[in-house]
Amino acid sequence: MAFFEDLGKKISKASQSVVDKGKELADITKINLSISDEERKIDECYKKIGKLFVEKIGDRAEGEFYELVSEVLGAEKKISEYKQQIKDIKGITVCPKCAKELQADAVFCNHCGAKLDGTEEQ
Ligand SMILES: [Zn+2]
Repeated sequence: MAFFEDLGKKISKASQSVVDKGKELADITKINLSISDEERKIDECYKKIGKLFVEKIGDRAEGEFYELVSEVLGAEKKISEYKQQIKDIKGITVCPKCAKELQADAVFCNHCGAKLDGTEEQ
């Protein structure tokens, strides 16, 4: 009988360790999620630091910063050129007075009333 008692104890010990392992895994998963949350916060801060740096320092950046800032400024310039290409395709122009988008063939701005034939009107 002692054999079966021992076996029973061994089995319950083994199943207890399966439960423990399951709890361990759940705990580790929870902790890993917390790590991911913190890493996401760090990434967000780095992004903000980078944007702030480009805003405040811009093309006055030096050394290795200069390369990265130049890359950002170059990409921003390209984006605005691409956006202009889309406006050209759509036949959209921008009012020189109020900066609203208008049809390229418009004579007057329908937002501020400015004349759009290129002559300044006060
Ligand atoms: Zn206008």
